[in-house]
Amino acid sequence: MNFVGRSQKKQVQAGKVLQHTTLKFRLYPTPEQAELMEKTFGCCRYLWNQILSDVQEFYAATDVHYIPTPAHYKKDAPFLREVDSQALCTVHQNLRKAFMDFFRNPAVFSYPRFKTKKARRDSFTVYCREYRTGPSIYLTGTGLQMPKLGLVRAKVHRKPLHWWSLRFVTVSRTRSGKYFCAATFGYEVSAPKQVNPAPERTVGLNYSPSGFYVDSQGANPDQPATAKSREKLARMQKKLSRMVPGSQNYQDQLQKIRLLHEHITNQRKDFIHKESRRIANAWDAVCVRADDLTELSRGMTQGDLRDAGYGMFRECLRYKLERQGKPLILVDRYYPSTRTCSACGHVEAAVSYKRRTWTCPACGTVHQREINAAKNIKAEGLARFRA
Ligand SMILES: [Zn+2]
Repeated sequence: MNFVGRSQKKQVQAGKVLQHTTLKFRLYPTPEQAELMEKTFGCCRYLWNQILSDVQEFYAATDVHYIPTPAHYKKDAPFLREVDSQALCTVHQNLRKAFMDFFRNPAVFSYPRFKTKKARRDSFTVYCREYRTGPSIYLTGTGLQMPKLGLVRAKVHRKPLHWWSLRFVTVSRTRSGKYFCAATFGYEVSAPKQVNPAPERTVGLNYSPSGFYVDSQGANPDQPATAKSREKLARMQKKLSRMVPGSQNYQDQLQKIRLLHEHITNQRKDFIHKESRRIANAWDAVCVRADDLTELSRGMTQGDLRDAGYGMFRECLRYKLERQGKPLILVDRYYPSTRTCSACGHVEAAVSYKRRTWTCPACGTVHQREINAAKNIKAEGLARFRA
């Protein structure tokens, strides 16, 4: 995420670090405000696609990579003037960043894609500006004041602390039609003292598709019971398939399905936050495998069931540890954690994923496959950290 709004680049005092916290609120816009929000979503999507296609055309014709600014489009698309120009600026910035990420690391970041109307979630982001008359965006006890939109009613369940300054807000609509704003605040805190992890205060986690993860002591977390919700979802989808598309019943059923989807996603997110908090507080260091980063970035950007998974968990873990001066140690993804014997170090040629246990031919130790892998991840992580 891009935290650098040009107007807000500030020097951080010595011994301090800049920290960000995002608070999410449900918004209750009036019909007029909702209409303007929809227009803004649409304009942002339009602008993104327009710039992207021009970049491609320009490149094809001249071999030069050039990204036009939003101002360039306002003449031909006057409706762009109706929405907050800040939101359009952010589109430009985000697209620039997407290209930069892609050029720097094409293995991890894919080429920017066109946005479709069928996206899971519509959103726009506006940075807060400081004017002599006050900030352009601010939170009140009952709502969020924004340019063009005015005061949008919000359920402010948590107040930011008075020394926090609002950096930017992202307004979004879920598929079920609920509006939210995620307000990101920046503030300085004392830099945490770096913790030097002792082996007995370090844990290794091995990703496990069935149990989320298994740690080096053999524990795995109690996941939220989404099985029932998933069964219900399957039944509802089956019912939907028998309905006439476009009918009122069909629409009602679709809405029920969307709400249930959101409910399951929220359950997963809640679990991920609590679980990462628990581990970050309980241990001095955590070792994990550096799995494919695309998986990780995907997990962070899309609010999907499958994706709000291990990648998001690891990212939560990273910043929760970092704030306490604790390291998240990444172990090379090609390190053979599964087939190395954690007792004697013998490396087996292959250990099938189907087998839950295996016996080391060198020392005779019987290993639980996943626990053994977690132990190796911990040992390898510590060795790397010390090196
Ligand atoms: Zn062995």
